[in-house]
Amino acid sequence: MAGKRDYYEVLGVEKNATDDELKKAYRKMAKKYHPDANPDNKAEAEAKFKEVNEAYETLSDPQKRKMYDQFGPDGPQGFGGGQGPFGGQGGYYSYNGSGFDGFGDFGDLGDIFSSFFGGGFGSKSTRRNNGPRKGADINLRMDISFEDAFLGVEKEISISRNEKCDACNGTGAKNGTTVTKCPTCNGTGQVRQVQNTILGQMQTTRTCTNCHGTGEIIKEPCEKCRGKGTIRKQPKIKVKIPAGIDDGQTVVLRGEGEPGEKGGPKGDLYITIGIKKHSIYTRKGNNVLCDVPITITQATLGGELEIPMVDGSKEKYKIPDGTQTGTKFTIRNKGFKTINSSYQGDFIFTVIVKTPKHLSKEQRDLFMQLAKTMNEQPPIKKRGLFG
Ligand SMILES: [Zn+2]
Ligand SMILES: [Zn+2]
Repeated sequence: MAGKRDYYEVLGVEKNATDDELKKAYRKMAKKYHPDANPDNKAEAEAKFKEVNEAYETLSDPQKRKMYDQFGPDGPQGFGGGQGPFGGQGGYYSYNGSGFDGFGDFGDLGDIFSSFFGGGFGSKSTRRNNGPRKGADINLRMDISFEDAFLGVEKEISISRNEKCDACNGTGAKNGTTVTKCPTCNGTGQVRQVQNTILGQMQTTRTCTNCHGTGEIIKEPCEKCRGKGTIRKQPKIKVKIPAGIDDGQTVVLRGEGEPGEKGGPKGDLYITIGIKKHSIYTRKGNNVLCDVPITITQATLGGELEIPMVDGSKEKYKIPDGTQTGTKFTIRNKGFKTINSSYQGDFIFTVIVKTPKHLSKEQRDLFMQLAKTMNEQPPIKKRGLFG
């Protein structure tokens, strides 16, 4: 490995690059040289990828960076020196070491790594953190009626989640017995392993099989929860759905998800609302739309209509004489409420003139009389010679 390239050069940054710039550069380079992204020259890409990781491993650690700046790759700490940067033959990366704890900041890089390394590292379940952890969120979907969305509603739903076992108060140990630290992992829940991969040796951290990652050994497990400390329950939860909620919006109930671990907070409950189709009304933004059939005489002479509102009330509305089919009328502030605002949408109805299909004898006679007073054939505007 003679003629090692300068680490700053490898990442394409200045000597005075900030941590942020380093991170960005690293992300860019790691993506570029990811072996999966370079199927045509995998070997070369792997070498570069390795180099990039090596450079970042050093420069992202303030202590190592200082040493590197001062002594270069052949410094007293043995950077480079014909071997892998950290002493191991062929390179030795401690991805789960302190230099990489900010993994969450890497966003989509996590996917790159998990696909590349077979999901063996960077995955949340094998993180070294054995401290308090927030419980998982629960996601549900609930369908409600158009009216419920309009008026707001409180619903009770049955969910399935783990809850603290009351027999052992969540410890998992039979009453009166104690929980001891796992000797295999010394209570951390994780054991380190060195693996041989295409990149050389990789240090990975795996869940301790002795304690299954809990860091604790329960000699006499609680009989009720079999040592888990939690029991599956189906509690009923009240969900308040605000008036004006729209299809696809989500109601969040903080702390109603799965229990946290090691004293961590509970997860949240997310309920995505679906709104059932209504036979009469439709929604557009915060407006309610509907068609209102009217008779030919109402359309001709005008008249007062009773329009049914979504909340069950009726609004009187006068339409003028000579109303054409398809005309829209608006009743202000009778539409959907807006969540967290005083604004309310409108109720917009479209009149549809219904031509009678079945007339009584009397009606037919009246129409005949009417017809005589009007042009039988309505005037058709013709454009042509005399246009
Ligand atoms: Zn129990
Ligand atoms: Zn253990």
